[in-house]
Amino acid sequence: MRDNLEIMLQSACSALTSAETEAQLREVRVQFLGKKGELTAIMKGMRDLSAEERPLVGDLANRVKDTVESLFEERLALLVQADIARRLELERIDVTLPGRATNSGSFHPISIVTDEIVKIFSGMGFGVAEGPEVEKDFYNFEALNVGKDHPARDMQDTFYISDDVVLRTHTSPVQIRTMMEQPPPVRVLAPGTVYRRDSDLTHSPMFHQIEGFLVDERVTFGDLKGVLTRFLREFFGDDLGVRFRPSFFPFTEPSAEVDIQCVICSGQGCRVCKQTGWLEILGCGMIDPEVFKAVNYDSEKYSGFAFGMGLERMAMLKYGVNDLRLFFESDLRFLRQF
Ligand SMILES: [Zn+2]
Repeated sequence: MRDNLEIMLQSACSALTSAETEAQLREVRVQFLGKKGELTAIMKGMRDLSAEERPLVGDLANRVKDTVESLFEERLALLVQADIARRLELERIDVTLPGRATNSGSFHPISIVTDEIVKIFSGMGFGVAEGPEVEKDFYNFEALNVGKDHPARDMQDTFYISDDVVLRTHTSPVQIRTMMEQPPPVRVLAPGTVYRRDSDLTHSPMFHQIEGFLVDERVTFGDLKGVLTRFLREFFGDDLGVRFRPSFFPFTEPSAEVDIQCVICSGQGCRVCKQTGWLEILGCGMIDPEVFKAVNYDSEKYSGFAFGMGLERMAMLKYGVNDLRLFFESDLRFLRQF
């Protein structure tokens, strides 16, 4: 029986040592020390022993049991430890790894330029108004002193929805709508999308304009020059050269075309300014009394000026973009640069 106990001890020890998981370890323990385990089986032989031998063998059996038990505890602690270490290794966070970049959108250059222009003019007391893109002929032409037979209709290639409804060819109808709704004084900017039947390298059938107008008592052409010069210098740079040339628009009288010193060559002459050193940037003028008549403003009492410019052109000059189509192709490589 002693031999059996010794043999059992050895095989229990080697089984415990080679167990690789907590579950295996517990199985080994049951196999040797459980109620139906090997130790119990061996101990059944106790009743055949003599009275002198019995306590000695009992003593040995207890020691075997204690040894197996303590080896079990020891191995269990080791396995648990190893398991924790392995899990920590798996879940290890390398704080030196570069972070994952989050994808954030950016504003379209036309939006950026629009916001900047609105900001500069709001510093001079201008608010913002909007109007429909599908517009009545009356607001787009008639009220702006462009009658049905007016030759100026040829200046703008119009998309007609019906005889009386068009896709607006400029943002000026917002001027009419605003003046019909509120009495002077008014200072309003109207940015928006406009449409013309025109498509080539420098023209797109859909593009953006910003229109501005101011009506009050005793507004002069000097006010117009002051406001626009200040705006252009804030937008393009302090010492920018600005000049006004006489021009013609049906809705203003007198009318002017505004040039700025070429921002590409600083006035030295280059391909963009066709060697002239100057760039056409916007059209403007004193609002024609005929327009005031259409919106029921008293042209004896009030005067005002209006101006309009293409937002794509402003963005091209500001950012040195040489192809208009880039603004509408949704190429992320282009758009992400802003
Ligand atoms: Zn130039």
